[in-house]
Amino acid sequence: MGKKELTNLFSSDPNRYYKVSLFDRMGFKRQRCSSCGKFFWTLVERMLCPDHENYSFIGKPPTNKRLDYVNAWKETEEYFQFNGHSITRRYPVVCRWRDDLYFTIASIVDFQRVMGNKVVFELPANPLLVPQMCLRFNDIENVGLSGRHYTGFCMVGQICNADAPGGYWKDRCIDLDYGLLTNGLGIKPEEITFVEDVWMGAGAFGYSLEYFVCGLELGNAVFTEFEGNENNYHAMTNKIIDMGAGLERFSWITMGTPTSYDCSFGPVIGKLIDATGTFENSDILSKYFEAVSSKLDAMGGDLRALKSLIAKELKISDEQLKKMIAPYEAIYTIADHTRTLLFSISDGALPSNVGGGYNLRVILRRALSILERMGWIIKLEDVADMHTDYLKQMYPELDEHREDVRTILQIESSRYIGSRERMSAIATSIKSSKKKVTVDDLIRMYESDGITPDFLMEVGAIENIPSTFYTKLAELHTTQTASQVQKPIYGLDGLLPTRLMYYEDKSIREFTSKVLKVIENKYVILDQTAFYPRGGGQEPDSGEIDGVKVVDVIKQTDIVVHKLQDARDFVEGNTVYGMVNDRRRDLITKHHTATHVLNTSARINLGSWVWQNSAFKEENYARLDITHHSALNREEVERIEKTANNVIRQDLPVIIRLFGRGDAEQKYTFRIYQGGVVPTNNIRIVNIEGWDVEACGGTHVNKTGEIGFIKITKAERIQDGIVRLDFVAAEAAVNYIQKQENQLTAIAQSLGSSKEKVVESSQKSIDDAEAARRKIKTILRKIAPSMAKSIISEAKQLSFNGIKFYSVYDEELDDEYCIAIGEKSVEIDPSLIYIALISKSQGMRVVVFVGEKARLKIKASIIAKQISTQLGGSGGGDDRFGQGGAGGNGMIKDRIKEVLLSAEELVMKNIAG
Ligand SMILES: [Zn+2]
Ligand SMILES: [Zn+2]
Repeated sequence: MGKKELTNLFSSDPNRYYKVSLFDRMGFKRQRCSSCGKFFWTLVERMLCPDHENYSFIGKPPTNKRLDYVNAWKETEEYFQFNGHSITRRYPVVCRWRDDLYFTIASIVDFQRVMGNKVVFELPANPLLVPQMCLRFNDIENVGLSGRHYTGFCMVGQICNADAPGGYWKDRCIDLDYGLLTNGLGIKPEEITFVEDVWMGAGAFGYSLEYFVCGLELGNAVFTEFEGNENNYHAMTNKIIDMGAGLERFSWITMGTPTSYDCSFGPVIGKLIDATGTFENSDILSKYFEAVSSKLDAMGGDLRALKSLIAKELKISDEQLKKMIAPYEAIYTIADHTRTLLFSISDGALPSNVGGGYNLRVILRRALSILERMGWIIKLEDVADMHTDYLKQMYPELDEHREDVRTILQIESSRYIGSRERMSAIATSIKSSKKKVTVDDLIRMYESDGITPDFLMEVGAIENIPSTFYTKLAELHTTQTASQVQKPIYGLDGLLPTRLMYYEDKSIREFTSKVLKVIENKYVILDQTAFYPRGGGQEPDSGEIDGVKVVDVIKQTDIVVHKLQDARDFVEGNTVYGMVNDRRRDLITKHHTATHVLNTSARINLGSWVWQNSAFKEENYARLDITHHSALNREEVERIEKTANNVIRQDLPVIIRLFGRGDAEQKYTFRIYQGGVVPTNNIRIVNIEGWDVEACGGTHVNKTGEIGFIKITKAERIQDGIVRLDFVAAEAAVNYIQKQENQLTAIAQSLGSSKEKVVESSQKSIDDAEAARRKIKTILRKIAPSMAKSIISEAKQLSFNGIKFYSVYDEELDDEYCIAIGEKSVEIDPSLIYIALISKSQGMRVVVFVGEKARLKIKASIIAKQISTQLGGSGGGDDRFGQGGAGGNGMIKDRIKEVLLSAEELVMKNIAG
């Protein structure tokens, strides 16, 4: 059964599913659309459902209230607050609490948590209202053009658990929504239509009533009643009301502007029109956008055909119309893209080539290339500021991140300018080659050069973006993570969860336990264990069980599996004695807590966009990958290191407590998910008091002072948007420093200096070597003419017309010498051919010079190539100078004579020919 069958099923019993008390009370009648057959409820006679209706509110809104974006929210907020709803602050647009989503795509997502393959709802209040910013990148081409598509929009969420205290079900839900439309927004009841529909989500579904006014869908009230799928389901114990409505549309219906952009960006559109000097012919524009807004769907989304049609109606040419509306489309698109970037960067995301960052870079570069095309000198960071100035009354947190957003937009804009030339060159070569560009080509260009298909389409190098591009790119990155997943161990069914002694008392190093199961003579499962299994980037404990070495410890669901060197002597039911390697656990624990200290230090020193991307904690070293836009310089690394060591010296307490998930998120925000999502109800919060709070299952010290010392050993930009910090802590840091000091001492000794003076001494020996090289060059220049003369006199006369041949092989010669002498010799005697073979430790070097006159007969490159090839290597060059070489010395030496002889023959042949 699919969505259609489900709709039929629900609509076949409207009294059970769709009829609410309001319909009876107000006299709403159920009707069937004569065109598509959908059922809907209305106060006045209608043949068609609102799907087929033009937007009749443009230019004549069905209400006396005029509410801009922020005021539309204030009206809605006030109305629901008065009606007993808690107002919840928006959740981040970066969806940190779901690892199946990069971005928050709907208001209900705020409250969904995935556990195993089940979705559970986590409401911080009941009922509640949230102004949730949502990001969607599946329809970018229409944004700015259609009048109503956005990459970022506010979905007002009216959410409620029907079966919990404070909850209500469909009667009250529709009463409230109807009240908002009529009293809050001032819309006449006859204008409102409710359409019967079905909504299917992950693991749950329900029936829904979509409400429309004057052809515009304003909201959808979903009654999530069933759990499972459409073929196998049962009623939920906690039914959920999920009403989502677009705030942009609430404002639009009351303003009746040609596009919803005109009323949803506050003063931003007006400011951009002024700043760009865009000419306003509001009459034609209104007519055009009114037509686009209401007819685009009816035209099957074909914007080009629609434009032609409108041009005809307005009695102007396609070209005239295009010219008139292009600046408006540009302004709308830039306003949308910048607002989306503002929210996502504020919430800690960075534009990049991977994951969700990809979408952000795409819209950022799209906005920049539009600005370029229009020839407008406008900075995106200034547009972002305009949005913040307007939106801060609704979202005060945007103001806090104003500077961070500016920084990232500036960096990304200058990067775009830097790469633009290269991108244009590649685009031109694609256009001229006329070869068909495949999806694989596009992926390769994107991964290696950062060229987005959107850019190629923008400049006309490709006609469209293949629909498989995004999915293929996504797959590429998912398989990478999938390969890291460990292979499951079979045979654990029916075993009880292992008692985790390392959580109860982390000081336990010796324990007794009962053997529950032995698998494949190497895996042992105990009823309780003090061995910490690999997890959250923390490497497992080592040690012994009954004297047999433990080589690995893994956790599968809630069972700890010990991999032993040999478990043949283990008998199920026996008691065994375990011993955890104390030194290893101690060092890993210190490295782990050090990771938390360092992570916050990096964020404080670099910016709010710094998040842990991943981490790894071993006995002798650790690493922390953070999200950051550029490589770190020495000074930044030192600052991070200093701040971290300050925190260690402050000896802050590390407090570990369990929290309910919702409480933890509300109390500490989503910053706790540095290590990714935690799929449990009870979250273990590791709180370094006053410094860092994270949800983490690892082992930690009691106070930061125990870490002793942190030393960053390397900082490296490992991929776009990610910097890796390698570091050592505690005893491992002391070992590292000592090793460095020993190396320094050894260097100082070889320079005949002391550690204190090693920098000066090494600089002096570099200077000395440079001076010696310069001296040799001077001597060479002085002796070259006389050496050249003796070479010329020794050279063999090959023909009556004067071509001379000179070759030399010597084990003590060096390249620089031969090049200087050879060059001088052919300069003095233009008939000379000079060949030198120079023996090197790794092989043989070939140098050939041919004088100006001799060049008429043979090129230096040809001689160099023949000799090098015969020696088993390769060579080349130009007419005057050729060079080459071959590796491996022993065999080559025996062939020198023969090779030089055949070079002579080659020259002879050329003279003759
Ligand atoms: Zn219809
Ligand atoms: Zn941790």
